[in-house]
Amino acid sequence: MTETLHHKIVIVGGGTGGICVAARLARSGLGKDIAIIEPSDSHYYQPLWTLVAAGVFDMKASTRRTKDFIPRGVHWYQDAAIAISAANKSVRTRNGSTITFDWLVLAPGVELDWDSIKGAREALATPNVSCIYDRGYVAKTEGILKRVSSGKLLFTFPPPPVKCAGAPQKIMYLADEMLRRRGVREQFTIEYRSALAGIFGIPVFADLLNRIVSRKNIKTFFNQKLIEVRARERQAVFVDVADSQKMEIISYEYLHIVPSMRPPEVIRSSDVSVAEGAGRGWIDVDPYSLRHQRWPNVFALGDACNAPNAKTGAAIRKQAPVLVDHLLRAMSGQVSDRKYDGYASCPLVTGFGKVVLAEFGYDGKLMPSFPLNPARESRLMWWLKTLVLPRLYWYLMLRGRA
Ligand SMILES: Cc1cc2nc3c(=O)[nH]c(=O)nc-3n(C[C@H](O)[C@H](O)[C@H](O)COP(=O)(O)OP(=O)(O)OC[C@H]3O[C@@H](n4cnc5c(N)ncnc54)[C@H](O)[C@@H]3O)c2cc1C
Repeated sequence: MTETLHHKIVIVGGGTGGICVAARLARSGLGKDIAIIEPSDSHYYQPLWTLVAAGVFDMKASTRRTKDFIPRGVHWYQDAAIAISAANKSVRTRNGSTITFDWLVLAPGVELDWDSIKGAREALATPNVSCIYDRGYVAKTEGILKRVSSGKLLFTFPPPPVKCAGAPQKIMYLADEMLRRRGVREQFTIEYRSALAGIFGIPVFADLLNRIVSRKNIKTFFNQKLIEVRARERQAVFVDVADSQKMEIISYEYLHIVPSMRPPEVIRSSDVSVAEGAGRGWIDVDPYSLRHQRWPNVFALGDACNAPNAKTGAAIRKQAPVLVDHLLRAMSGQVSDRKYDGYASCPLVTGFGKVVLAEFGYDGKLMPSFPLNPARESRLMWWLKTLVLPRLYWYLMLRGRA
């Protein structure tokens, strides 16, 4: 039976962005006016997955119950949005409800497009292939890196946008150290093959990372896109980004695949996404206010937006207060002048005990939080990444306090 329900504010997605916004709105006294639509009963702190894959943390450390983070008074539909209409101010859900809203906040994250690489799904089921972006294959990575005895480790990077674009490198640097600790590094070659033109978009960090790969004896290849995995032969097929006729077939002992990423189908097929041209399918927001470009009662944050910031949880920490200020003022007929400056941070783990904290905003502007040289490997930042940031996330960000 179809039910119609109404809430003043509906939030689609109860991951990082959705919970941060709900918590802030609830702290403003709006708890009972809010509903969150989120299908998963578990909430994941994804930034830990790189470290889970290297054996530093257990998967459980990245997982909590969703219900423990739904702010008091907020209604949680454990359900998925299957159709969104900004024009009709309604969301249809998988369980058959229609939920209407006055204001809509979208935070559905991205999905992994496994079909963008031929044979990738089948390859993941084989013993020597994994992906730290998919929670089902994070722990598998550690097992492989402890087991392999010689050959080529192949790490790939797809055409962007990619959430936490540093993660494919982080696991590669940790893999290098895991082999060194086992005393078998000499038995291996390590290759990084990326669809991008260079190792990192910001020159000061790119220079440092280029020195690090050279120190670690890792070979890098750019403008190369993985198009197929032939798992039975343990071969990965790449094409040149500019010329799909130029093909290279690489044999591997271990393959770390990263597929293309895109907003969920419910976004791509709705009137909130960019209809055509650059950014097609992504939520069409003003990059500074995070308000929808065409629907003034719709806001969005996080990975599914077309704002040109680096897609990270750190970006959401800065987006949430801006979005909430704009939303609250709009609800009372006012206009906020707060602006999101594109801040994102990527703690680039370059080894056990070593992190380069890359913090930057729109147009690659450096935005360091600490009075230290940011382009340095630092043990302090390792403690920040492993001890401070997870606590900041669970106890402050998700509670609307940071
Ligand atoms: C391996 C890895 C390493 C990372 N490292 C870092 C890091 O070091 N630092 C950092 O800041 N960030 C990092 N990130 C990125 C960070 O986790 C994301 O940017 C952040 O979680 C995005 O938040 P979000 O709310 O947009 O999406 P998510 O947190 O992914 O939440 C989206 C939610 O929407 C729900 N949803 C999906 N479809 C629907 C639907 N149809 N209806 C309702 N709900 C739906 C999902 O179930 C999910 O709970 C990393 C990510 C990964 C995978």
